Amino acid sequence: MKARHASSEVLVIGAGPAGLYAAFYAGLRGLSVRLIDAQPEPGGQLSALYPDKVVYDVPGLPATRAAEIVDALVRQLAPFRPDYRLGEVARDLRRTPDGWTVGTDQAEYPAGAVIVAAGLGALLPREVRLPGLHPDVRTALPDPAAFSGRRVLVVGGVPQATRAALTLAGTGAAVTLTHRRALFRGSPEQLEQVQTLRNSGALQVHAPAELDRLDERGAWLKLGGDRQHVPADTVLVFNGFLPDLGPLQGWPLNWQGEYLPADEQQMTALPGVFVAGDVSLSGGDFKLISVGLALAALAANAAAHFVRPELKIRPGHSSDRRLPPH
Ligand SMILES: Cc1cc2nc3c(=O)[nH]c(=O)nc-3n(C[C@H](O)[C@H](O)[C@H](O)COP(=O)(O)OP(=O)(O)OC[C@H]3O[C@@H](n4cnc5c(N)ncnc54)[C@H](O)[C@@H]3O)c2cc1C
Repeated sequence: MKARHASSEVLVIGAGPAGLYAAFYAGLRGLSVRLIDAQPEPGGQLSALYPDKVVYDVPGLPATRAAEIVDALVRQLAPFRPDYRLGEVARDLRRTPDGWTVGTDQAEYPAGAVIVAAGLGALLPREVRLPGLHPDVRTALPDPAAFSGRRVLVVGGVPQATRAALTLAGTGAAVTLTHRRALFRGSPEQLEQVQTLRNSGALQVHAPAELDRLDERGAWLKLGGDRQHVPADTVLVFNGFLPDLGPLQGWPLNWQGEYLPADEQQMTALPGVFVAGDVSLSGGDFKLISVGLALAALAANAAAHFVRPELKIRPGHSSDRRLPPH
């Protein structure tokens, strides 16, 4: 039986930049807001695909790492106490007398209005196929503290692998980090920390190394011409993420390929269902953060008026308001 949660006035599907900013504007207009995302953390493509890269074209943020842009968006939204539902995939949409209900595998989320900010689709872990068998292979790190004192082999060169290795080493796990290439991705600070821990012996690093085979007790790595056994209680594999629009494409929203058409207020073919960000046809091929944020402002303000018709669509100037401190 799925849990049925209390209704929010606005439900945002996707906690990428467009979804976070739509949620911010809904909060600014005084509405309760909930966000659903398949990812375990907010940020969409910025967190999943390129947290370590420097972005140059977000207004007012010269040369800022993607992870820091996400951090700023999350902090800007925080005063409005959004209800994040992370690690859940929105799969169905049902009309109700009070609006809409969105279903995930875990729960039902009723809302007055829905904003689809799904980007390229639900960012889901790429399939991992490793030779051999090990009793504890994972593709995400739910609770680092649970690994204290355990031997963990972290496999992968993506930023999530670097971050997991550092987090686990910091919580007392015996960590080995390995990748088939010599380079790991991460912020300069993270990469420096890897080097420091490696030099001190607090982190074992094998790269480039090929994971040859798992066994009951760990994994065999191919290092140049040698084979080396790394004992591990847990093998944590990070293989990046792939977007999947499939869960939403059955919704009757007049999909045009990977895009959703909308009116000038970003409302789709369904009343009370709005769209913002990369998935919006209004932005066309301009898959940019700045364009997604603008569409999010339009969608959220139109959603505010839809849910509470006494609110004007145009929000007025935030500089005329007194907001909670951040
Ligand atoms: C490598 C790279 C570099 C880039 N560099 C720049 C740059 O320099 N400047 C720039 O402006 N743009 C850049 N972009 C593009 C930018 O990242 C996107 O335009 C932006 O992320 C779009 O934001 P969004 O919120 O619309 O979608 P996304 O960031 O894709 O977020 C959508 C979120 O919705 C979630 N989601 C989708 N469907 C579901 C579902 N059914 N259930 C639950 N969750 C769901 C996804 O998991 C995802 O987290 C870059 C993109 C990439 C890949």
